[in-house]
Amino acid sequence: MPAERLVLRPPDAGHKILIAEGGLRVPDDPIIPLIEGDGIGPEVVRAAQGAIDAAVENTFGGRRRIVWYPIPAGEKAMFRYGDMLPEATLAAIREYVVALKGPLTTPVSGGFRSLNVALRKALDLYANVRPIYWIPGVPSPVSHPERLDIVIFREATEDVYAGIEWEKGSPEARRMIEVLEKEFHARVRADSGIGVKPVSETGSKRLVRKAIRYAIENGRKSVTLVHKGNIMKYTEGAFRTWGYEVARDEFRDSTIAWDAVVKDHAGQAPDGKVVIKDVIADNMFQQLLLRPDEYDVLATTNLNGDYLSDAAAAQIGGLGVAPGGNIGDAHAVFEPIHGSAPKYAGMDRVNPTGEILAGVMMLEYLGWRDAGARLRDAVKSVVASKRLTYDLARQLPGAKEVRTSAFARAVIEAVNGARR
Ligand code: NAD
Repeated sequence: MPAERLVLRPPDAGHKILIAEGGLRVPDDPIIPLIEGDGIGPEVVRAAQGAIDAAVENTFGGRRRIVWYPIPAGEKAMFRYGDMLPEATLAAIREYVVALKGPLTTPVSGGFRSLNVALRKALDLYANVRPIYWIPGVPSPVSHPERLDIVIFREATEDVYAGIEWEKGSPEARRMIEVLEKEFHARVRADSGIGVKPVSETGSKRLVRKAIRYAIENGRKSVTLVHKGNIMKYTEGAFRTWGYEVARDEFRDSTIAWDAVVKDHAGQAPDGKVVIKDVIADNMFQQLLLRPDEYDVLATTNLNGDYLSDAAAAQIGGLGVAPGGNIGDAHAVFEPIHGSAPKYAGMDRVNPTGEILAGVMMLEYLGWRDAGARLRDAVKSVVASKRLTYDLARQLPGAKEVRTSAFARAVIEAVNGARR
């Protein structure tokens, strides 16, 4: 069967978010593209949509609302339109600036390394942002999960994820090995696969700039540059150097390097200044377990960030509850960190918290902070009442297991209840 031609029709109501000099100009009825995703995507997205709408309605008394604009991607788009990530879908996000998405299944074989990587590249969403905080009542493997409250800014376009690599024995790998040996006197075993790790000043600085700006705007105490510069000096080490440079050159009045705190302020950071410090990546894993409360915003390269954000998410209750944002200079796509969990698809069983909290991030990004806070508080109150989906209920004695849709209804009731 030939694929259908995709024609997207934006909603009749609502207005576009505009990109202005000083940031986004968000109308009271923004059109927000919505990718429902594959597998469990539709059910968690439905849950989140209802909860977000309720939070907006209640916070602004009907003065504001989101006009959702469903757009296709993933398996369903492939089946219908012969393209996992249609150009029209990308164009819609480009035009409407901020989007919410569910998880997408990446086929094991086929042209895409990962749909999400492709999406980030196409829209230059260079910062993967993950707030990691504990919701009281969520089972955790550590004794004090409440001590962890960080936001990880992971660079998302460079590093070993740039996709520059060649298979063992391929003409490209053989040629690279030859060049390395002949021209740079670097010996590499003939049976090696070869990968390249680009880390640029531009890419590093724009990521750290975003992390520092976030820290200042959100009253965070520190930004820690996480790197492996002791081993990879000109990539990871340079990331650290460039990070300190951004702070010094662009945020002189609002930041202070840790060295200066020790030297000039007896180890006590002056009020109102964001402290810039750095930690080597392997040590960072220990620090998050042993001294979680000494860290706040982390800025790091792609691979470090990938490992760290999953490890940190495990500390606060795991996959089902953690949200993320893919953010560029203005464009942003919010999503849960979990995948499409195909074996649970359509069962109304999985945890929609990650998707709902992605909605909280989105509301904050729109500047609708009160609605975001209301929604987060509603999730907290439902979790505190021990009505949990199977993944968490089975770990918590006395919990009542509820379905995805029932959890979402409870969140909406809590949002509505907060008004009275
Ligand atoms: P996954 O996150 O989909 O699922 C792994 C397991 O985690 C599930 O079997 C389930 O037990 C549990 N789980 C995940 N989400 C849950 C939730 N909301 N509530 C309760 N339990 C949950 O990871 P996977 O199996 O490695 O990947 C499946 C597909 O998802 C792959 O195609 C992968 O490429 C894709 N994926 C997409 C994204 C994304 O779109 N951002 C992220 C990760 C993986």
